Amino acid sequence: MFLKSKAAVVTGSTSGIGLAIARALAKEGADVVLNGFGAPEEIERARAGIEAEFEVRAIYSPGDMLKPDEITAMILKAEKEFGAVDILVNNAGIQHVSPIEEFPVDKWDAIIAINLSSAFHAIRAVVPGMKQRGWGRIINTASAHSLVASPFKSAYVAAKHGIAGLTKTVALELATHKITVNCISPGYVWTPLVERQIPDTMKARNLTKEQVINDVLLQAQPTKQFVTVEQVAAMAVFLTSDAASQITGANISMDGGWTAQ
Ligand code: NAD
Repeated sequence: MFLKSKAAVVTGSTSGIGLAIARALAKEGADVVLNGFGAPEEIERARAGIEAEFEVRAIYSPGDMLKPDEITAMILKAEKEFGAVDILVNNAGIQHVSPIEEFPVDKWDAIIAINLSSAFHAIRAVVPGMKQRGWGRIINTASAHSLVASPFKSAYVAAKHGIAGLTKTVALELATHKITVNCISPGYVWTPLVERQIPDTMKARNLTKEQVINDVLLQAQPTKQFVTVEQVAAMAVFLTSDAASQITGANISMDGGWTAQ
């Protein structure tokens, strides 16, 4: 329970990796802000479940990570409710798979806004408080696609390379303030985000579902296994610990060997 007096905001935490990170931080005693979209009753079940299971406070912010005003409002709400944001996890993300010349302009704009710019807006809102308190942890969910590319994912790869650069820059700026800034770069994690891109990949590459899973997704991963959300969450928890206080500006791969190739 080493996060007992801490509060965390995890963007995109109504599902997948973000929800696992929020739950893992709460398990260590942190109060958490859940954020993201989904059916209201499912979100409420996740929120109330965290409070009941881990005896922390959990609140929900519907802030749209496309909208800078709503991002700032989410951070202000967290500071008002919990008195501070000690841990910020920029995790919200979407994907779109399409050849570059057919890539919808609105999808490009949305992916850059949600997967990259939202982290900028959230970081700039939490940093003054973290500096004042002399402690902070900022963790960005990047991707193996922050290090290498795959065809048909131009916006996603551009955004994820961007978040890796943002991570390094902010880490240097905050290095003397006891605020660490890192990104975690998972390979393929079995979540709704991966499931949803299968039909488009089938279309773009003219493959069956099984071929996409085995020959495209797991093809990239030498271990031939998906990463689990719990594994990513455990890394996020470690990055908030004292043992990780000298890890900053790092891009931590959890990709079954994908980017070692
Ligand atoms: P997911 O679809 O399960 O979760 C995405 C979350 O983001 C959801 O809570 C969703 O509601 C939220 N979200 C989407 N648009 C939003 C918006 N405009 N405002 C607020 N919230 C919004 O996906 P996931 O796989 O858990 O992805 C989480 C992060 O992990 C993303 O940044 C993704 O790029 C990254 N990632 C995923 C994988 C993978 O294989 N699943 C691999 C590497 C990196």
